[in-house]
Amino acid sequence: MPHTRMDPPKSVTIRARMMWAMVVLASAALLTSGTIVGLIQQANISRGVDANLLRSSEELRVLAQRGVDPETGEPFSGASELLRTFLERTVIGPAEGEVAFVGQEVVWVASDDVELRPEKDQQLLEQVKPLLEADQISLVSITTDQRHYRVMVSPVQFPQGRGALVHVHDLDVAKAELRRTMTLYAAVAALTVAAVVLVAWWAVGRLLRPIEDLRKAADSIDERDLTTRVPVRGKDDLTALAATLNRMLDRVERSVDAQRQLLDDVGHELRTPITVVRGHLELVDASDPQDVAQTRHLVIDELDRMSVLVNDLLVLAKADQSDFVSPTWVDVTELTDQVLEKASALGERKWVVEHLADAEARLDPGRITQAWLQLAANAVKYSEVGSRVGLGSALRRGELLLWVRDEGIGIPEEAIATIKERFVRAAGAAEHAPGAGLGLSIVDSIVKAHDGRLLIESTPDGGSTFTMALPWLPEPSSPATPTLED
Ligand code: ADP
Repeated sequence: MPHTRMDPPKSVTIRARMMWAMVVLASAALLTSGTIVGLIQQANISRGVDANLLRSSEELRVLAQRGVDPETGEPFSGASELLRTFLERTVIGPAEGEVAFVGQEVVWVASDDVELRPEKDQQLLEQVKPLLEADQISLVSITTDQRHYRVMVSPVQFPQGRGALVHVHDLDVAKAELRRTMTLYAAVAALTVAAVVLVAWWAVGRLLRPIEDLRKAADSIDERDLTTRVPVRGKDDLTALAATLNRMLDRVERSVDAQRQLLDDVGHELRTPITVVRGHLELVDASDPQDVAQTRHLVIDELDRMSVLVNDLLVLAKADQSDFVSPTWVDVTELTDQVLEKASALGERKWVVEHLADAEARLDPGRITQAWLQLAANAVKYSEVGSRVGLGSALRRGELLLWVRDEGIGIPEEAIATIKERFVRAAGAAEHAPGAGLGLSIVDSIVKAHDGRLLIESTPDGGSTFTMALPWLPEPSSPATPTLED
């Protein structure tokens, strides 16, 4: 079946998403602040307009109380004179207008240079009239077809009759200024958002570049090529992620390489017995019972060897799996005795317990027994009948040592470093015993699965000592910690 890669559905990139988030946030912030400033400003304008209108009524009051009629030189005697004098003397702002009522009629208007003419807005005058009779100053908002006004009606009362000053403020003018400011603000805000978009696009892109590198690298990695690594630059979290990914790839590559190597080795090692079996079967003379019996014996022998090989390979293949060992608390003295008992059946040797560790240790008893017996079997294989083989266990500096010591042929110094590898045998080993060179690899895998080390001491013709050194911690619940021995 052809290998097909599922392409992820086209989606919005993180870059676009982050950018949109920034744009929405910036827009919301600018809109909110703009609205708040606008509302505050509008309130300020209304307050300013009212203050201005009230000031003019105050001026009217002061003129009424202290002023004198310029024509008579006497205090004002009527509403009409007072209002005329007031209108003549006051200077009003550009968005303001004034008229003076006596009774219900407009009798005085502002000078010609004043632009806003309330007397020309009939609707305004109509709406003001009801307020002329009031005793208090009225401050109201009036909307006509022409404008929006803020109106102050300040009544004056004289014995001969009443009048009123009507001072108006064109709110449209005042608010036009605010509108201009807010329009300018909106334009600047839009430009700011555009600038945010550009900067955010660039900054987010820069920020996400390591992720993009990571994605590309991860994309380019498949089972055929595991050599690609993600470039690691900088010191941030993403760099740490890239480094972690690289370390993971190192492990995957090592494991895949190991599997490939194992398959190569298996193929190579199985070819020999298969060739031997096939060769013998091809040449067997079926009519010669003696030849048949001899070939049968040989073929069974070869198949037995193959079966041992396959079993050993299966153990090695499992060594990488997490459930390869299942540690429990084990009495080491008991374990040593048991292994010695089993080992003594392996061959006629002087089996000796050299030392017993009086401790509990956390290890997989099945696997450790398997490894220990493998070392004992090697000791038998590479030593003379009747020679001494010692087994022992001891605690030393936080390690549990389990060893097998023989007086066999020893190992050439240059071979010590390599005999732990699969299918490696020291020079001259084949003369002493048959073997595939898998025993020590299995022991090494078991020891490594316990986080330990396999130590080899040997002198050619002087015997060898194989020691499994496993990390040791006292059992948490045990009251007395065994003394560490040197
Ligand atoms: P095998 O014994 O099948 O060859 P092992 O992996 O058990 O495979 O051992 C690898 C090699 O290490 C052996 O071929 C031998 O050269 C050497 N060796 C292992 N144990 C001993 C020993 N006790 N004495 C001498 N040499 C040993």
